[in-house]
Formats: sequence, structure tokens, C-alpha cells
Amino acid sequence: MDEKAVPPPHVLIFPLPLQGPVNSMLKLAELLCLADLHVTFLVTDYIYARLQRHSNIQTRFSSYPGFHIRTISDGLPENHPRGDKFLELFESLMTNTKPLFKDMLSNGSLGSRVSCIIADGILGFTCDVANQIRVPIFYVRTISAACLWVFFRLPELIQAGDLPFQGDDLDVAVKSVPGMERYLRRRDLPSFCRSADISDPIIEMYKAESTENARAYGLILNTFEDLEGPILNEMRTICPNIYTIGPLHAHLKAQLAANSTSAPPAFSNSLWEEDRTCMTWLDSQPPKSVIYVSFGSLAVMTNDQLMEFWYGLVNSGQKFLWVIRPDSISGYEIPVELSQGTRERGYIVGWAPQEEVLAHRAVGGFLTHSGWNSTLESVYEGVPMICWPYFMDQQVNSRLVEEEWKLGLDMKDTCDRSLIEKTIKNLMEVRKDEFLLRADDMAKSAKTSLTEGGSSFSNLKRLIDDIKSLSAS
Ligand code: UDP
Repeated sequence: MDEKAVPPPHVLIFPLPLQGPVNSMLKLAELLCLADLHVTFLVTDYIYARLQRHSNIQTRFSSYPGFHIRTISDGLPENHPRGDKFLELFESLMTNTKPLFKDMLSNGSLGSRVSCIIADGILGFTCDVANQIRVPIFYVRTISAACLWVFFRLPELIQAGDLPFQGDDLDVAVKSVPGMERYLRRRDLPSFCRSADISDPIIEMYKAESTENARAYGLILNTFEDLEGPILNEMRTICPNIYTIGPLHAHLKAQLAANSTSAPPAFSNSLWEEDRTCMTWLDSQPPKSVIYVSFGSLAVMTNDQLMEFWYGLVNSGQKFLWVIRPDSISGYEIPVELSQGTRERGYIVGWAPQEEVLAHRAVGGFLTHSGWNSTLESVYEGVPMICWPYFMDQQVNSRLVEEEWKLGLDMKDTCDRSLIEKTIKNLMEVRKDEFLLRADDMAKSAKTSLTEGGSSFSNLKRLIDDIKSLSAS
């Protein structure tokens, strides 16, 4: 057959229905569209409604005729908190969404036949369905390779007696995760490892990760070789076909720039309304003078914790831009003695255009919950971090930031105003040059990985070639 007559591969992408995974998998979708692949992006009705309200994906993707968005039910009532009750969301996806997913793929309603599926690896049912209908599947994990590797090793951690913890000392070294022996402590394991009950459903769920991920044709990771090389080498002993194509947000920007002479349009995959007034505020601040504070889309905090941060930030004397998501706290009032300091040095928004904020010349530090997207966005822009992890992979990521990459300071398991003040001063003043130098080096490595011949660039090309040849066969 004439090569031109072969229809392009049709890829179905199914992210975990949470802000972080949806955000990064939309970027992967656009990268595949740029390579002229046809993409159906499958999201739950709940996520679709929020994307329609707050993002600009409709206009952005209108220039890709092969892109379609489709919706599926997550089986939960409208007012369910979803991300806050992740196990319930996960169970409902397994029970209610799985049959709908199978039906959708079998009844021809997606137009041309799907030639491959790219799904979040935590949604194991997608692999069952893919095997039943004989469509190749790639898994994507939107967490760090480091955290995924810890998940892979959960059975060994239990076998070695590292889990459950004996006694309550969280500083005990953990030696049964190869490649991480030098720095991993109990407190750096994913938060659910602190459970005294190893039959906890969350532990059970993640214990199967290594066998689950090895079922797919390949594993796509939002990371880059220079950042997590030693851990990736360990992971390849179990999943040999790994495509490291990150940082995805920057990879997309690089490819858009290479494909066009004009600046790429502004994009937002946000599930919240972005308050762009903070960009004007940043414009009026001196270079590297502002610490940006955000704890992502899921973390919540108590009023006491909020107050500790407030005192710590104001007393540090630094300028700060702070994202306080309205649903992250139960309401607050600015303490009277902090109102002047907040007015003079602070700016508070409900949701920020984070990638642009981190790229702004005025930002010199990031106080973060160490979510993987936030970590990569900060690494790419060369912004040193203070880590205050909330849960899950964030406990692992923050340890790597401080001990392995030396890009910042880990403040996990503490929340004290004077320590917050001291840590901010350390990052923004006392050790500023040292952190900026390392952050700059790592940012250069990230950029190199995305240029022609770089690891992420080459791996994306290999992924696209593999999708094409699987589709042709
Ligand atoms: N984000 C944003 N504006 C904000 C806070 C966060 O656009 O005010 C984005 C951020 O750029 C990142 C995502 O939300 O891409 C958060 O993902 P991450 O993995 O860091 O954390 P999660 O929200 O999953 O805990």
C-alpha cells in the first residue's frame, strides 16, 4: 500500500482523574498530535466539566483535527470530594468505569479503531480490557521514578522487616530499596507506609505495582535520565521498556517552538480559575526576591498550620506570593499583627498560573508540597525549593530534593513558625548562591534532555515510532 494511504495511529489516552495527571497527560496528548497521531483523550464527566469551566483546551486543541475529547462516568455523585477520598474514587473507577470503558472500546463509538491505549498505570483495569480486545497498552506514571521504585519494592520492604515500622523512630535508615540506601529513612517513604497495618487497602493497592507495570508494552515516565538515572537503571531490571520523556510541560513548549515561528499560545489545563493579577505584581518585584508558596491541588491544612506559615513567611522579611486554594482550608482571617507585613511584602491568590510564575525572573524560591509536577516545573526553571510534603510520593520527592540533588531544604514533619522563618532565610539569603548554582546546573541538564539527541527528545521519538509500528502491525 502507498505509505500516504496508511491512516495515522489512533491513540486513546486515559489519565487518572486528578489535576496533576490530567495536566501532564494533556501535554503528552498534544505532543502526539504534533507528530500527526490521532488522539482521543478520555476524561471523567467531573474533570471535563471543570476543564470546560477553567481551561482553554477547547480552543487550543481546535488546531488538531485528529484530537477528540470523550467523557466517561466515574460512578460517583456530583458532590463527592473525589481526590480527598482517593480510595473511594479508585474503587468506583474499578467497579463502575471499567465496564463502560470496555463497552466504549468495543462498540465502535470512538470512530476509527483504537490502535493503542496510553493509560495511567494505577488504572490496572485498562490493561485487562486492552488484553481482552487485543489492543497494545502503554502505562504512564505521573509520579517520580523514585517513588514508583519504592512502590515496586514494597513486598521486599515487608519481607525485610522494614514495614511495618517497629517503634516510632522515623529517622531509622531504610536499606531494602536498591539505589536509595544512602539517604532513605522511614520518614521519606510514601506516607501510607506509616500505617501499623500492612494489610491496609492502600498498601495492598500499591504492593502490586511492579507486576502491574510490567504487564504493559512500555512504561512512560515524566522524568529525565540525568535527574533519576540510577533509579531508572534499577527499575529497568523489572520494566525494561521505559520511555523517560520529561519534563513534559517543557517538552511540549520546546516542540511547539520548533514547529512554529510565532510564540506558542498561552495554555492552561487548570481545574481552578487562574488569578493572573499576580503576574503584574511579580513584574514590579526585583529579580529573585520572591518566594512562591503553593501546596498543589489536593493538600489541605489546619488553621494552626496556616498560622505557622503566615508568621514564618511574614517574619522572614521576604516577599512572598502565596496560593491559598479556597478548598484547602476552612476559612481564615489575617492576624492583625501580620496585616502590615502581608500588605507590604505579600500577595495571595486562590490559584496561580504556576508554570509562568516559576519562570518569572522575580521568583527566587519555591515553598512547595513536592508534588511531582511542581517539582519538575521548579527544576526546569532552576528555582530552589523548600519542601513541605503532604502525602504519598511527596515524602520521597522532598528527600531527593535535599539529599540527592541538593536543590533545597526538606521541612517534612515540622510546622513551626520560627523554623519556617529560618528555613526561608536560609534558602533566600544565607545559602542562596549555593542553591541557585545547583538549580541552574540541573535546569541546564533538563533543557539538554529536550534538545535533538537529548534523552527525553530521543525517547519521545522512540515512543512515537513504536506506536506507529504497533499500529501498522
Ligand atoms: N498548579 C497551578 N496553579 C496553582 C497550583 C498548582 O497551575 O496555583 C499546577 C502546577 O503547575 C502543577 C499542578 O497544578 O502542574 C499540581 O500538580 P502536582 O503534581 O505538583 O501536585 P498535586 O496537585 O497533584 O498534589
